[in-house]
Amino acid sequence: MPASVLKYVPANPNPAGFIRDVPGALSGADRRALNERITTIRGRIHGDIGVAILADIGDIAPYELGTAIYRSWKIGTVAPIGNARRDVGALVLLVPKELAPNHQGQCWITTGRGSEGAVIDAAAGAVCRERVIPAMKARDYAAAVDSAISGIEHLYLVGLDSLTAAQARELARVTETRALSQRGRSGAQGTSWRERLGPVAILAVFLGLAGVIIGIVWGIGRYLRFRSRPCPRGHGRMQLLSESEDDLELEEGARFEERIGSVNYDVWRCPAPGCTERVVIRRSSWRSGYADCGHCHRRALTSCTVTLVSATQHSTGLEECTTTCAFCRTTHTTRHVTPVLPPPPPPSSSSSSGSSSGSSGSSFGGSGSTSGGGGGASY
Ligand SMILES: [Zn+2]
Ligand SMILES: [Zn+2]
Repeated sequence: MPASVLKYVPANPNPAGFIRDVPGALSGADRRALNERITTIRGRIHGDIGVAILADIGDIAPYELGTAIYRSWKIGTVAPIGNARRDVGALVLLVPKELAPNHQGQCWITTGRGSEGAVIDAAAGAVCRERVIPAMKARDYAAAVDSAISGIEHLYLVGLDSLTAAQARELARVTETRALSQRGRSGAQGTSWRERLGPVAILAVFLGLAGVIIGIVWGIGRYLRFRSRPCPRGHGRMQLLSESEDDLELEEGARFEERIGSVNYDVWRCPAPGCTERVVIRRSSWRSGYADCGHCHRRALTSCTVTLVSATQHSTGLEECTTTCAFCRTTHTTRHVTPVLPPPPPPSSSSSSGSSSGSSGSSFGGSGSTSGGGGGASY
């Protein structure tokens, strides 16, 4: 990476957060709220998001600087090789027009190696054009960053949903093989009690512990869901409505989500006469196969990916992804180029990605691995 580009790469915002706002375009409260949204997305769907707001990028092309920042900050989740969530990350580069010496505003989203399938380049460009730049024109930079984050989250979810069953099976197989080989390694250096017990007993203990942990997590979840909630006006405990009762309290879109099983709503009502206090808790199902619709914001989006041209080791392929909202009926079709297939790996290739061992915590610890793909627009 040439020094002329590197000198515009801002300092990595972590571990304080994921946003580097050089000109101070965001208020402290906005920055904290946006950092929190990114933390939630990282925890929920294991995709990294970094944001860089700069006043001046000189003559450097946004895609070039975006790639340099992505690599320098080491964005992208570190997951085992073969895992679909590996290297899923995106860097949002924003230059407010009114601050730029050349009066050229920019929005550019650089995507990681693992996210081209989800945050596809054309879609990244559309996020900038349709969501981010209108907010930037209105000089609402918090809204600009917020819509970039929402757009990327949406694309991640659509990408996740379009994982084919075959990929999912392959993923399960790879994960299982790795777990077994790891267990095999730790067993080899173990002491004699392991040998005396034998693999079946160890497996039984292992499964028993897993069962206990799942039980505890389930119990905590049930407690949090059904714990009594007091009426804020001091009328005592509120009541949880049954599924048929809560339909009367919900909007049409929410009832639709409940019907297709993408979201379950718990509605709590104060039983005191004349009291109108309600608490509605929205619980999305991550196994329903639906993603959030960017149009009506209901969780009713389905997607279908069709391979138009298969990639080979010598040429790129072409895929078409159609998303349809079952509630508002909005349909969106995008096409994207799929990368040339990699040559068969040499026998002893090991990846050297980042220095961190995981993607937990509140800092980037990814591989910073990107092929420089992405999309954006100027205004
Ligand atoms: Zn009340
Ligand atoms: Zn919709």
